[in-house]
Amino acid sequence: MTMRDTFHRTIDYLRISVTDRCDLRCKYCMPETGVEPLTHGDILSYEEILRLAKCFARLGIRRIKITGGEPLVRLYVIDLIGQLKKIPGIEQVTLTTNGTHLAKYIWALDKLHIDGINISLDTLNPVLYKEITGRDVFAKVFSGLQEALKYPAIKLKINCVPQGLSGQDMAAVAGLAKDHPVHVRFIEMMPIGLGKEFPLIRESDVRQELEQTYGALQPFHENLGNGPCRYYSIPGFQGKIGFISAMSHKFCSNCNRVRLTADGKLKTCLQYDRGMDLKALLRAGRPDHEVELAILQALESKPGEHHFTETFVVDQEKKSMFQIGG
Ligand code: SAM
Ligand code: SF4
Repeated sequence: MTMRDTFHRTIDYLRISVTDRCDLRCKYCMPETGVEPLTHGDILSYEEILRLAKCFARLGIRRIKITGGEPLVRLYVIDLIGQLKKIPGIEQVTLTTNGTHLAKYIWALDKLHIDGINISLDTLNPVLYKEITGRDVFAKVFSGLQEALKYPAIKLKINCVPQGLSGQDMAAVAGLAKDHPVHVRFIEMMPIGLGKEFPLIRESDVRQELEQTYGALQPFHENLGNGPCRYYSIPGFQGKIGFISAMSHKFCSNCNRVRLTADGKLKTCLQYDRGMDLKALLRAGRPDHEVELAILQALESKPGEHHFTETFVVDQEKKSMFQIGG
């Protein structure tokens, strides 16, 4: 089956957040204090996630990304990933992580043939890394990346959110794609949660910085992932340089995704608090066909595009990114 929304977009990609907890406190994502985490009973159990994933797969979801909070802080998440990979119809299961626990789990992720890992790394400067994330763990994250590089079957991408900080050094981050077979993607800050307080560093600003160091970026037209990233080549680089620019280049017309939050809400757009409480349906004992119908009904509320640049928006999402999963 193919799932289409009211704008005829094919929806085949699901981001599943497995927790709202995180061991970092990236300034643009999660406040240092005042966060009341969801309780164990609030979040979907692995059995519930698997049941929903099977419903989604029957409807047409083909690729799943595991996210959070920090997904690797939830106990036995590796087992969940292994189970998701076995669901008929699911072609890819990938993970996005801050990398703090990667060194420990990478062998297991390789063993279950994970289809890709995105590592969030905003700078290679350890002092600034601590300032951005609130934790002095750059060395741990970097050794996680080094460890992951020992597994050539795993496709690695680095995600970096430019913040205009002196010393963040986008060219150095991009240089990871020169020295290693990884793609480095620069993600424009979106005005969601704490991200609203941050300046927007545009794709064009980053490109200028990179071109000063490496020369002209050459458009690369092959599709390297599930999403809206546009890639460029730099001669001599092993990996590509990508840009995910929700603010500079709206990509909503090609949106292929929905999101499942850790507490079981189906979200149809990042910006809007619209969707469906699927956990409530599961816990009310509803059968799969009713859950699937509810998913299709929720899809009808998927908007045609975001309106991040408008000041007043009805149904605006009030959650922060760590509660949504990026
Ligand atoms: N903890 C994991 C990680 O950091 O990769 C997964 C969850 S995190 C919310 C997913 C991604 O969202 C990270 O790459 C993070 O940098 C990005 N992110 C968080 N807030 C953002 C914002 N306001 N705009 C753009 N990206 C954001
Ligand atoms: Fe945690 Fe990821 Fe948010 Fe940073 S971006 S606080 S690592 S959830």
